[in-house]
Amino acid sequence: MRVEVVAVGTELLLGQIADTNSQWLGEQLAANGIASHFHQHVGDNHERIVLALRTALTRSDAVIVSGGLGPTQDDITRAAIAEVMNVPLERDPALVTTIRGFFEARGRTMPDNNLLQADVPAGATIIAQSRGTAPGLICPVGQKVIYAVPGVPYEMTDMFERAILPDLLARQSATGERSTIASRVLRTWGASESALAEAVASRFSALVDDDRVTIAFLASGIEGIKVRITARGVDGAHATSLLNDEEARVRALITATLGDIVFGVDDETMEDAVATRLLTRGSTLAVAESVTGGLIASRLVNVAGASSWFRGGVVSYASEVKFDLLGVARGPVVSPEAAVTMARGVADLLGADVGLSVTGVAGPEEQDGQPAGTVFVGLSIDGHVQHVALRLPGDRPRVRAYGAISALDALRRELDRLAVT
Ligand code: ATP
Ligand code: MG
Repeated sequence: MRVEVVAVGTELLLGQIADTNSQWLGEQLAANGIASHFHQHVGDNHERIVLALRTALTRSDAVIVSGGLGPTQDDITRAAIAEVMNVPLERDPALVTTIRGFFEARGRTMPDNNLLQADVPAGATIIAQSRGTAPGLICPVGQKVIYAVPGVPYEMTDMFERAILPDLLARQSATGERSTIASRVLRTWGASESALAEAVASRFSALVDDDRVTIAFLASGIEGIKVRITARGVDGAHATSLLNDEEARVRALITATLGDIVFGVDDETMEDAVATRLLTRGSTLAVAESVTGGLIASRLVNVAGASSWFRGGVVSYASEVKFDLLGVARGPVVSPEAAVTMARGVADLLGADVGLSVTGVAGPEEQDGQPAGTVFVGLSIDGHVQHVALRLPGDRPRVRAYGAISALDALRRELDRLAVT
């Protein structure tokens, strides 16, 4: 089963918008163990869309086309698909009612153009809209299929999850391949993608000829790098057991070379990881932030139930606030000493067991003789202090964002270390 993604839209070719739809679809297909060997971009031009679809059908079993389902003259994906299927477009009366209802519910009159969205290639099945007016389409072409979804990202992702993925998986099992796919993401912070790849290189080579288990790396910006393990088993229990075995091997390799860099699994964030550890320990936390200006506190309160362990924070941006409120000695404020005093100071001030602080230079100018990107993280745990020195890359917003997650990571690691000793 091979799937090809075709993204329609002249603005994609002109570089006016980034094709995040294909990126997202590629990620989903990979996660579900569905092969995708080609992606195409094509402008809003009838002949070229037809050519792109025909080309895709020569080498893939299914095509997902996104964009061009809207109500305007440049939305021509429906007509192109009808030509490829060699069938006429037919107006679907039920869709006309639905689209009319969409406008009536909002107290607006429907522009006649929107009726075009009720035109469906004969033989196609409709994927109902839950968020806008353009329906998606499932269009059989012989034994193959073209799925059409709107370009608007949240409409596209909704239809993929609700209708396309189940249909693809059903087709895959109809080919006699009875299997269940399970996947798990290990989330890491602090290593480069190449270092990670090197660490698990032996598993990569071992899995080259294995069609049951695959490993993939997904960079996710300031949130680190994800290692996705996907396993295909004869049933759910088999897939899970393959997954568990592979996870144990991958974790062992990563830890042996790069240390304790796996902070979470699947949707677990760095703040979730910190929260779990504080709860286990029964400790409360306070933060003192200079360079991150509240980003850490903001991340922490993302966690439901944070009030049971998060006391609060001080954005001690001006040096005087560090001196007067947190007890930092007058002098340079970007230093390990300032960081640990801030951490202990805020823990005392807010009555917390644990204090976490960040002081550093966001740039572009240097400060206290320290270059931009210098960040000191201070930790005070039950009165015992220590610091971590970092040099972070990037411009101001990136230094701040990296500083916030790095500080949380430093706390996570230290709480783990204390838990085992
Ligand atoms: P509409 O009903 O809004 O016209 P449509 O199916 O015709 O939907 P397009 O007109 O191609 O879709 O795109 C609508 C919007 O969706 C675009 O303005 C763009 O912001 C976004 N979009 C389209 N294609 C992509 C893509 N491949 N990746 C990310 N965003 C996209
Ligand atoms: Mg459009």
